[in-house]
Amino acid sequence: QQTTADLQRLDRAHHLHPFTDFKALGEEGSRIITHAEGVYVHDSEGHRILDGMAGLWCVNLGYGREELVEAATRQMRELPFYNNFFKSTHPPAVKLAEKLSQLAPAHVNRVFFTGSGSEANDTALRMIRRYWALEGKPEKQIVISRENGYHGSTVAGLSLGGMAPMHAQGGPLVPGIEHVRQPYWFGEGREHTPEAFGRLCAQAIEDKILALGEENVAAFIAEPVQGAGGAIIPPESYWPAVKEVLARYDILLVADEVICGFGRLGEWFGSQHYGLKPDLMPIAKGLSSGYLPIGGVLVGDRVAETLIEEGGEFFHGFTYSGHPVCAAVALKNLELMEAEGIVEKVRDDLGPYLARRWAELGDHPVVGETRSLGLIGALELVADKAGGQRFDKTLGAGNLCRDICFDSGLVMRSVGDTMIISPPLVITRAQIDELVILARRALDETARRLGI
Ligand code: PLP
Repeated sequence: QQTTADLQRLDRAHHLHPFTDFKALGEEGSRIITHAEGVYVHDSEGHRILDGMAGLWCVNLGYGREELVEAATRQMRELPFYNNFFKSTHPPAVKLAEKLSQLAPAHVNRVFFTGSGSEANDTALRMIRRYWALEGKPEKQIVISRENGYHGSTVAGLSLGGMAPMHAQGGPLVPGIEHVRQPYWFGEGREHTPEAFGRLCAQAIEDKILALGEENVAAFIAEPVQGAGGAIIPPESYWPAVKEVLARYDILLVADEVICGFGRLGEWFGSQHYGLKPDLMPIAKGLSSGYLPIGGVLVGDRVAETLIEEGGEFFHGFTYSGHPVCAAVALKNLELMEAEGIVEKVRDDLGPYLARRWAELGDHPVVGETRSLGLIGALELVADKAGGQRFDKTLGAGNLCRDICFDSGLVMRSVGDTMIISPPLVITRAQIDELVILARRALDETARRLGI
């Protein structure tokens, strides 16, 4: 039996983690998560931790679902792998494609499978550019995206994304991608009302289209609610105004549903909450509740019909596109979500309940804003509540709060000084109460350590 210290030593010696400062890790050692059930994960030191992030925004059905284990086992026995290239396919991929078409908005009837959300966004980029070439407008190449958006870690994914630190490390980015401001009112727009700020951010898209020449702009890509950027819920005025701009210049909409899809915002897809009609919808994460890696792009009829009718062979695909075991698990996951009415529960009960309880944290001396929608939420940490002044960046208030949370039994993520939650969708009201109590205690301790 290896001890925590053994595992940490081996980890330090051999394991390069995603998004990790390896040198700092050398000093601290990783937390080793060993098992989980429901909304709780357990570490190798015997701590039980409420997973307020559903893993990485993905374990929507919670941990320990035997039905998903059985679906995987059965499929592994029957057909552990076959590809979907050329003229082959297999029942799990076909059935999952059909199920997704049923759940998606009426104008979306096809899916291209990938292994991850990053691959889904790479695929979306290629589809957009191919679509316009086939439509006889090959100059329509540029994709407009948003600063601080997240669309993955492949070169196309990080280029589409607007994470400045990633761009700085990425070498040359994929050309033909332009970024506009994000609708982050608390961070960037407080001199305006939220509604006026939402409209300004939509105007920034129109200004960019006009500056680039509308004949050159292929698509706009955005998460309905920005996840990794800080659980940024746009002002109500934003999406209606964006929709108008895109329609005016005939620009395709790619709604990145990797986080917002599969119930997170209380609808099957986040786009539905905002009444959007996206042409492409990259998906992943909650598709399989994170039990196995699978993603895809849901393709609206407009793009699909051109690709099919005019395109010939699309030279694109991944060995694991529609992997049978992943597809079987994803299908079972969606069937369980439907049977258990998970999406409706988030919309009608858990989302409104979290909104009420989460807002109570707004009275805390280090909290400048609370916000939530469905089961995604954020707290903005501030040094001076009355003036809304943020902490000095060098204090690392967000990371401090995150570490205090973890040590006291709650996973809450920090993005700068924004604290984020995105718990499993099977969380109960009592567990939401527990989450709010743990968060408040962590805020108290954060304030104490920062001398507030
Ligand atoms: N798109 C969004 C909105 C995401 O949040 C993520 C991952 O966090 C991705 C894409 C990339 O997905 P993956 O990590 O599966 O490649």
